[in-house]
Order: sequence, then structure tokens, then C-alpha cells
Amino acid sequence: MDKLALLGGKPVLDQPLPRYQSVGKEEAEAVARVIESGCLSAFYGSWGDEFLGGPQVKAFEQAWRDRFRVKHAVSVNSATSGLFAAMGAIGIGPGDEVIVSPYTMSATAMAPLAYGGIPVFADIEPDTFCLDPDAVRKAITPRTRAIVVTNLFGHPAALTELMSIARERGIKLVEDNAQGPLAMEQGRYAGTIGHIGVFSLNYHKHIHTGEGGMCVTNDDELALRMQLIRNHGENCTEASGVASLANLVGCNYRMTELSAAVGIEQLRRSDLHVGMRERIGQRLADGLQGLEGLVPPMTRAGCRHVYYVWAARLEEDKAGVPRSLFSKALSAEGFPHFTAYVRPLYLLPLFQKRIALGASGFPFTLTDIKYEKGMCPVVERIWEKELIGFETCMHAADDRQVDLLIEAVRKVHGQRQELARSAAS
Ligand SMILES: *Cc1c(COP(=O)(O)O)cnc(C)c1O
Repeated sequence: MDKLALLGGKPVLDQPLPRYQSVGKEEAEAVARVIESGCLSAFYGSWGDEFLGGPQVKAFEQAWRDRFRVKHAVSVNSATSGLFAAMGAIGIGPGDEVIVSPYTMSATAMAPLAYGGIPVFADIEPDTFCLDPDAVRKAITPRTRAIVVTNLFGHPAALTELMSIARERGIKLVEDNAQGPLAMEQGRYAGTIGHIGVFSLNYHKHIHTGEGGMCVTNDDELALRMQLIRNHGENCTEASGVASLANLVGCNYRMTELSAAVGIEQLRRSDLHVGMRERIGQRLADGLQGLEGLVPPMTRAGCRHVYYVWAARLEEDKAGVPRSLFSKALSAEGFPHFTAYVRPLYLLPLFQKRIALGASGFPFTLTDIKYEKGMCPVVERIWEKELIGFETCMHAADDRQVDLLIEAVRKVHGQRQELARSAAS
């Protein structure tokens, strides 16, 4: 076998992979047409036809409804805005507990805080990295109002099971589906199974508009409430007939006509963009089966994984080499990757010091919930020791290049004993 690049050998990949570029001619032409029309946004902050935006925004939402087979799609200027709107719409208020995953982009857990809600962290499943339904059951208290589940890395969480927990307890399930467009569970799209689903259209995601997001729901009242929160709804409470005034404090989460025009083209070719990511992820997963101590991502029966990230676990005990060293050797072979993903969110200073809204400790002053190291052992182990991820969405790679990635991992894995020995000496 060739000598490891870390020990002076030749790297498997001698050139960086090109960045994946999903935006092209169609988007450029669509944007040019919007600019020529002179109408870059048509939102108006009071009740009437323009309360719901201009022609591109409306057409984009219609296309999204059709594609995802949902009753309502509410476009927003980011998934973060969408998550905030979702928390507002379901009526989260000060002291309400919202169960979230500690292993997700921070915005997921900030959304309840925006309304004075209390994020309660439950542990994750070690194979999908998504919220563990058993941990969720244990975290529920009489103050629990909602669960926000992230379909992490493009794989659906146990959505049907979480939805049945939510129904049983009379609470809401919100899906953070920023990473999972067209992912599926039992023939249903991720993002459409909970009461509300939130998609991201930021430039890291499978399809994007630079910045942007989409909220979906089959519930008329929740849709209306998100539309009100998106666009200074305090002006429209009588005209809209909305049932509750809670959380209708004005926001501006409106998407521009330019973004919507780009989004229409991106959605039109979403099968292509998502399919490319899926193919890379599957080829990597297939090519890396059976390596001792290296566990490639799994896809649960009945699910479609869309591989926002291809995420494997290195079990140090079985592999005989720590992740840090394995990762160093992978980098030397030219395999672009990251380790750890995000720090479990409860370890952020905001939770450790209990300072969020203002400096007096609100809303943590309303709760006894604790945020302690060790509280979610699975996520801490995966974060500290095991996770190795490849950002499928960032890179373009044809089959030959994916095979080189596989070769790089196999090469390092095959010589892990020498690697460990060289580090020890
Ligand atoms: C990207 C992402 C977000 C935030 O998306 P924005 O559109 O940038 O606000 C939220 N949650 C998850 C899981 C994400 O990956």
C-alpha cells in the first residue's frame, strides 16, 4: 500500500474538489426579468392583496405547495426567521418549555428564546444524530408546549413517532428541515409531517436563494399567524380575523421578488441538485462499508437520506486510533472534512451563564431547568470523539472523485496501526 501522505507519501487527492454551484443561467435570466419589471418587492404592511407579497413570492409559494403537497407555504428571508415565526405562531410565551436537540444549528434553540420560551435539551440517537423519542418522552413536563426536531444532515428524525408523542400530549411538533429538502419518511416529505416545517434557502443548502427560507403547514390558523408575524401583523389583527393576539409583535421576515425568482428556478431543478448530493452520499456510504471502527451514515428503513452532510462515526476503541489523528491523516490525503460539528448547544455561554434577553437572566429566571455538562451523554461522545463529516452540499464530485475520497479513507484506515505507532514514537 502507498505510504500515508501524513508520513511523507503522496496524497490520494492532489487537487481540491471544486465548489458545487447550483445557480446558473436560468436564475440569471429570472432575476433580470424581475429587475426589468422594477418591482423588487411588493409587500405592504397592512391588510389587502399586497399583504402577502408580490407576484414572484406568490408564484414561488404556489410552486412549493405543489412540490411538497402541503396546504400552505409561507416564504421568509431565512430559516432562522421561519423558526422564530413558527414559535410565535404556535404561541410560545415566557416560561414555556420547548424540547430541542443539542446537536443542530444554534438558531433551532434560539427560536423559543425569542419569545421567552425555555429550550429543554434531549439527547440524540447515536445512528441518525437526530432527537431520540425516548429522551423526548423523559423531557416532557406539564410546561412543555412544543418539540422542535431537526432532520439533521438530511436524514429524517423519527418524525411519525415524535408526531404521535406530540398528539398524545397536545403539544406542537415543529420540524427544522433546513438540511432535508426532499428527504422522506414512509412516503411523506420531511418538513411536512410536523405541525410546521421550516426549510432554509441559504447558500450552504441543497437549493438556495442566497438567503431565504420557507415555512409549511396544513393548518390554516398557523399559516395566517406566520403571515402576520412575517409582515408587521399588529396592523392587521382585526381585518385578518386572527383568533389570538399573542406574539403578533411586528417583524419583517419578507422575501424579495429577486430571491423568489431565484427560488422558483432552484425548486424547478431541485431533483437534480438534491439527487447529486444523494448520489455522492450513497456512493461514499456504500464504498466505506465494513471498515472496523468506522461507521458510515445509516438510512433508516422507509426513509430517504438527502445527505446535506455525509456523517460517519469513528469508534476509537475499535479503530485503535483517535479521531484527531485519523482526521489529520485524512486531511493530508486531501479529503476535505470536518470533525465534531457543533458543540452541544447547552454548553454555549448563553446557557451556561443563563444570560439571554437583557442582562438579568430572563427567561431562565422562570425555570429550574439546568444546563450541565454530561446531561446528554450520547451527543457529547459523538461531538468529542466520533463524528467525521463531509459536506456533500459544498463540493462537486463526479464518480471518479468520489472513488478517490473512498480510496483516501480506506488508505488511512488500512494503515491506522502504523499511524498510531508513528504518533506514539
Ligand atoms: C442552515 C440552518 C438553519 C438556519 O438557516 P438560515 O436560512 O441561514 O437562517 C437552521 N437550522 C439548521 C439545522 C440549519 O442547517
